[in-house]
Amino acid sequence: MKLHEYQAKEIFAKYGLPVTSGMLVKHLSEVDEALKKFPNGPWVVKAQIHAGGRGKAGGVKLAKNEMEVSQKATDILGMTLISPQTGPQGKVVKKIFITPAVDYTKELYVSVVLDRAHRCPVILASAEGGTEIEELAAHKPEAIQKVYIDPIQGLHPYQARQLHLSLGLPPDKINQGAKLFQGLVKIFMDLDLSLIEVNPLVVLKDGSIHCLDAKVSFDDNGLPRHKEYISWRDPDEEDPRELQAAEHGLSYISLDGNIGCLVNGAGLAMATADAIQHFGGSPANFLDVGGGATTKAVTEAFKIILSDNRVKAILVNIFGGIMKCDIIAQGIIDAAKQVSLSLPLVIRLEGTNVEKGKELLSKSELKYSFASSMDEAAKAIVVAAQGVKS
Ligand code: GDP
Ligand code: MN
Repeated sequence: MKLHEYQAKEIFAKYGLPVTSGMLVKHLSEVDEALKKFPNGPWVVKAQIHAGGRGKAGGVKLAKNEMEVSQKATDILGMTLISPQTGPQGKVVKKIFITPAVDYTKELYVSVVLDRAHRCPVILASAEGGTEIEELAAHKPEAIQKVYIDPIQGLHPYQARQLHLSLGLPPDKINQGAKLFQGLVKIFMDLDLSLIEVNPLVVLKDGSIHCLDAKVSFDDNGLPRHKEYISWRDPDEEDPRELQAAEHGLSYISLDGNIGCLVNGAGLAMATADAIQHFGGSPANFLDVGGGATTKAVTEAFKIILSDNRVKAILVNIFGGIMKCDIIAQGIIDAAKQVSLSLPLVIRLEGTNVEKGKELLSKSELKYSFASSMDEAAKAIVVAAQGVKS
């Protein structure tokens, strides 16, 4: 679960990290109230969407006077922001954050993520902030410093001080810097985050350090331990199909292609996506209907896949283990009837009672082609999707 900048900054403030507060505005009528609360300009008007690169896309604007705040708010609220992280369709801005602007002399980058290879959290930091970290990693990886964190002991004070100095931050602010890095790591650990990022971290005129931006992503597996934040989820920012899937216990992730995939088991779902890609196709989604794969789950899965109008063909790839193939076949037949399926459908069934399953399918009125291997299924669905006019 991702948070908005204004929410992340609320957490930062709770942990005593230096951020500027501001007011969240959803309607232009609230701008005056924000100006009353924060009467001293200049201000920054910032689009609140779950994607980085807002500045370059025109979603972060400086305003010198009150008139300009209203103007920028009018410009940004309701605009469609297109940044490298929003996808080509962009995201409509439904909320803005109005906050006093900060005057600074230097931009840096710092984040904490999980390093799976080292099995511990790691701080990524660079004296070259402001740009996207992906860009820096691609063109100048040596400019990124890494500090590995002992998951039990946390970030040692000496590591935090060392990082402060190696980033070229003012030596007389070493205690403030060290506290800040330790604070970021503490938030990361306390809240089971998958990412905490400050880009840019800035140095003010007096040498002190300030978090100008804030990004926080929770690890969804840890969220049940942080119930107070569950209501912070913003449905405006979530893929409606992913939300619908989650409600029915399906695990679904939208992808960019045109082949709908209905698979049981996460490993098989990934292998299916790979096989489709291998034969020149492109999956529209990752969908794991789970071990049970009941008629209800399969029906919901079909509904979710069909609600995506990019989908031109559907591949069902099911391995009957504990759940037998005949039961699954019946599930597919019933579900397809309920959703009046008309797209090309390729089915590959394997495992317990596969013969019974095949018999049920062939006796049904369902229009489909049967594939007896993964390769055959992937090849067939790629050809089928290519044959459908978009
Ligand atoms: P992002 O583009 O989504 O990462 O949004 P940021 O919050 O990082 O803002 C983008 C850019 O706007 C920053 O890199 C700064 O250059 C600029 N900016 C944001 N807030 C301020 C501010 O308070 N003062 C000044 N001078 N610039 C700001
Ligand atoms: Mn930023």
